[in-house]
Amino acid sequence: MTNDNESKLEKKAREGAFGPTEIKKGEKNRFLGEYEERVIAYLTEDQVKETALYPEIKDVLKSSEANKLIIRGDIAKKHISDYIKWAREKGIRFNRKNSPEFRGNVALAVAGKDAVTQQFGRIPDREEKLQKKGLSDNIIRNAGSLLCGDCWKELMEKAPEEKINYKKAGIFDKLTGANCVGCQNK
Ligand SMILES: [Zn+2]
Repeated sequence: MTNDNESKLEKKAREGAFGPTEIKKGEKNRFLGEYEERVIAYLTEDQVKETALYPEIKDVLKSSEANKLIIRGDIAKKHISDYIKWAREKGIRFNRKNSPEFRGNVALAVAGKDAVTQQFGRIPDREEKLQKKGLSDNIIRNAGSLLCGDCWKELMEKAPEEKINYKKAGIFDKLTGANCVGCQNK
């Protein structure tokens, strides 16, 4: 009886001392070393590696609560240089972090100094989001391309925040509907 009570007490003491710490440690390993309560938004590895950039991250970096941009250390520089540039423009420091203990697929996160009030969590996948907005698949899939006037207009009407991911054909580009990727197989 006495032993039982003692072990219960011990168990409670142990949980008190280590339980939450272990939970927090697991949580931090899922968010690149940050407490979840500090994470404003994040992208998965697949999202960071897309050709297109996520304009949501640019917005989040403008937030008054944004304090740092954290990027997993194994992500190639070509995928992240624009995100780093955005952070610099906003005076937000960035860290690259790696640990064999990291779990999950978070590859880029914007975090606050402390617990934040606005949390967006995982940013929705771009393709799905833009399909819902009614943007043509040819435009969605060809991020980085030069668009003709008509496709540019469609982009500006349906998803203007995506203009960072395309170039508008100028008069010297001699681009017509016939060779604009956005117009193919429409
Ligand atoms: Zn076009």
